[in-house]
Amino acid sequence: MTEKIKPIFGIDLGTTYSSIAYVDEYGKAVIIPNAENERVTPSVVFFDETNIVVGEVAKESAKLYPNEVVSFIKRSMGEPNFIFEYGNERYRPEEISAYILKKLAQDAQQHLKEKISESGDEKITDVVITCPAYFGINEREATRKAGEIAGFNVRQIINEPTAAAVAYGSLDTTQNRVVLVYDLGGGTFDVTMINISKESVEVICTGGDHNLGGKDWDDRIVTYLVEQFQEETGITEDILDDPDTWQDLQLSAEKAKKILSQRPKTPVSITHGGKRVKLMLEKEKFEEITEDLLERTVDFTRDMLEAAGQKGYQHFDEIILVGGATRMPQVSERIEKEFTMVPKVFDPDEAVAKGAAIYGWKLALNDDLIRRISEKTQKPIEASGNLSEMMEKSEISARDFQEAARELAEDTGYSLPSVENAMLRVKNVSSKSFGVVAHNLTDEEIVFNLVLRNTTVPVNIKKKFYTATENQKTVLIRIMESETSTVEIPLEHATEIKTAVLHLPPNLPADLPIEIAFYLNEEGQLNITALETSEYRKIQVQVDTASVISGEEFEKAKERSQNLVVH
Ligand code: AMP
Repeated sequence: MTEKIKPIFGIDLGTTYSSIAYVDEYGKAVIIPNAENERVTPSVVFFDETNIVVGEVAKESAKLYPNEVVSFIKRSMGEPNFIFEYGNERYRPEEISAYILKKLAQDAQQHLKEKISESGDEKITDVVITCPAYFGINEREATRKAGEIAGFNVRQIINEPTAAAVAYGSLDTTQNRVVLVYDLGGGTFDVTMINISKESVEVICTGGDHNLGGKDWDDRIVTYLVEQFQEETGITEDILDDPDTWQDLQLSAEKAKKILSQRPKTPVSITHGGKRVKLMLEKEKFEEITEDLLERTVDFTRDMLEAAGQKGYQHFDEIILVGGATRMPQVSERIEKEFTMVPKVFDPDEAVAKGAAIYGWKLALNDDLIRRISEKTQKPIEASGNLSEMMEKSEISARDFQEAARELAEDTGYSLPSVENAMLRVKNVSSKSFGVVAHNLTDEEIVFNLVLRNTTVPVNIKKKFYTATENQKTVLIRIMESETSTVEIPLEHATEIKTAVLHLPPNLPADLPIEIAFYLNEEGQLNITALETSEYRKIQVQVDTASVISGEEFEKAKERSQNLVVH
């Protein structure tokens, strides 16, 4: 009997739709359908008294119960002020997202019951979750927390375009190429330049807008329909104030948009206050009222290319389009015109989840190889360390690796090259600049950026701060995130994302340098450590943010989620 490795699932947690995938026994990434037998699940949560309902039923319920349904929660990730109140409870975006994750996992578990138990597990535990390249430090942390609330061991948060590139790169591992990933999803737009080779997927540059996606195209249709309704009926009130009409129009607009990807026109009807207006929406009209949105994506793409040029990358070999909204034919037409290159529409709805699953599978192979090598050499090896780095540092020999790879391939039935290629390296860049509040020469408060956007991560930066008074107890550091590429910027161009309080040891003199190290890891997590420079003692750093669930709230959300079956 063939042995199974512990599966790691890939989850695309999308603004409008989400999906889950795994790599099957033949080494192929497959999407796991939900209980309704659909390959994607609407990212919509319906609080139905004691039940939580996620997916198509929740989306349909939005019409009848607009106040009990939460949609587009991804747009609120990392937002300190978003609280959804239901009953006597308060829910933050992390917990609402956790319900979407739970629905995906529960349905997948049911679908793969036997396969999961063959590998010795009862449940899906380990996952890789994707997020837009554009997400900052807090949004990424919030995504990880959502996974933890859902009860997962979140192995990694990876960028959506990186996941798409992993899926794309896995089709042909012989060629090195630089690809431009244009990803227009339901609520976000990312454009990323990525270097794909056999051993690595390296992000060169990234840009985009996390408030631009298919939903904006829907909204334009809604606005147009309202205008037409007003014109026909003479009604001047804002019919969108009526939640039922609003929901109805949102659903009709999305449907119409999808039909216009296939046909030149589609009938739409608008009903409000007992009046009904029917009209024919033509593709040309739709393109006209959304032209500026498409142009914005082109502008972001040009900006990103300029930044890539500054890093020495002037050329790309291919353009791939991912994200459901790239199915609108005007997207490929416009991109082709702009870059005189025919873009490839690559598995728009599924590439991200599949790429995350392939990435997870490689992690799982990597783990298993480490376990085998460790057993064979009787040397303890960090369980989820990176094999290729260990080989480079001669911590493990090529012979031990090859032997373990051969055994693993024999035991699992996976091909030897696929096992040997498990050592995929992913290099990322920081999508934002981040820095600290400091005083400039004229004693004004400014932001001094320590990491500029599009810097390759991991990156470690040290900065000295000075004690102001003798026996100072604490130092407060305000950590700021922004989208600029300059070192010094005005305070109002950045957002405070965290504060770090240094608790100083007693009796330090005034004006003593405190050395603070900021470490931004591959996943975009920020770690801060500090040393005082008189006796080089480590300083306790307490990092706080209101933007990500933590402490008691986090524990409560975890407990609530544990006892809950999502429908
Ligand atoms: P994603 O986040 O990648 O799942 O993309 C979801 C977005 O793609 C939503 O705005 C959908 O309305 C949109 N979408 C899906 N299929 C189509 C289609 N055939 N034509 C136009 N837009 C689509």
